[in-house]
Amino acid sequence: MDPRALSVRVLLHLPRVATLTGEMTRDQLDRELFHNSRQLREDVREAGDLAVPVADLHGQWVLPGFVDMHVHGGGGTSFTQGSADDARRAAEFHRRYGTTSIVASLVTAPLAELEARAALLAGLAAEGVVAGLHLEGPFLSAARCGAQDPRYLLAPDVAAFERLHAAAAGYLKVITIAPELPGATEVIKAAVRAGVTVAIGHTDATAEVTAAAVDAGATHATHLCNGMRPLHHREPGPVGVLLDREEVTCEVIADGVHLHDTVIRLIARAAGPARLVLITDAMAAAGMPDGAYQLGSMQVDVAGGVARLARGTIAGSTATMAAVLGHAVAAGLPLPGIAAAASTNPARVLGIGDRVGALRPGLDADLVVFDEEFRLRAVMRQGRWLSPCCEPTR
Ligand SMILES: [Zn+2]
Repeated sequence: MDPRALSVRVLLHLPRVATLTGEMTRDQLDRELFHNSRQLREDVREAGDLAVPVADLHGQWVLPGFVDMHVHGGGGTSFTQGSADDARRAAEFHRRYGTTSIVASLVTAPLAELEARAALLAGLAAEGVVAGLHLEGPFLSAARCGAQDPRYLLAPDVAAFERLHAAAAGYLKVITIAPELPGATEVIKAAVRAGVTVAIGHTDATAEVTAAAVDAGATHATHLCNGMRPLHHREPGPVGVLLDREEVTCEVIADGVHLHDTVIRLIARAAGPARLVLITDAMAAAGMPDGAYQLGSMQVDVAGGVARLARGTIAGSTATMAAVLGHAVAAGLPLPGIAAAASTNPARVLGIGDRVGALRPGLDADLVVFDEEFRLRAVMRQGRWLSPCCEPTR
């Protein structure tokens, strides 16, 4: 039997799990998932041949597979360098930790190199390895460039955007732009016309400039707070405006390194359950020992699981989505909101919510199973259990 058909049939018995994205108390959710997990277990048993400890599903958390819309690499390889097989391995690494849909994020690099990378990754998107591309650059602020290579930052330019868009062959989903740069408004409008989500990030914009960018069509925030002018009570800057505007979804790196837990809770409350997006922003060192790595052209040292440039700037994360989920739970975010932020909301932003991002009949059977301590137990992608099941790393 086609495993996808099988799993959709299984998931037909889980209609209420879709309410994960609604408001439920922890007790209500426990009851729903207890019942549904038992049903899933029985159906999978009936189906027979799936290589997962289904007997243990009883009473555990079944959530939609994660949709991580901001990832540079993991498991020792990356999307920003190396071969198509290296990029495949990075996607495969994150899949084992629950990311059933992954967006490959590029960092600032020479334009011709970015075009070549976009073309290579578009090929992987056509194969279904990645769900699309995110250009984190090159139109970013030098003052807030974080771990981006300042040598290759460009002033926003519609012709350059169009070259990159063409190279990505329809798979460019998101572009991060600093709206205060001259020419940014034209690029924002061109990207919106092309159906690309415009994210504000790596920016030193004022509140006024940020608001104008949202008026021009920007609808997303790249790792809110990180790589942007901080919030001040008389100059709320990008953080204040992006949180305030209802049409904007906000990425958060909930890895315990990039943001204080208090800030994570504040953002989650301000954004509400439909506008929060959990990401890893992971680079090659995710899942790997401490040591020397690269993020694009930049040398990165990882110590104690924290990736930094030599000058101390945090350079991406070493997190997996399984670890982000665990951290978000520990920070006190409600589980339904976490499930929405890790799956449903990014799927909607990426325009793939008709296929993934929820446990609902008719969607791909992508799901993750966690035990009561929020340790990852199993991952199913398109109806196939991935093995081996693994403990989340950081
Ligand atoms: Zn990034």
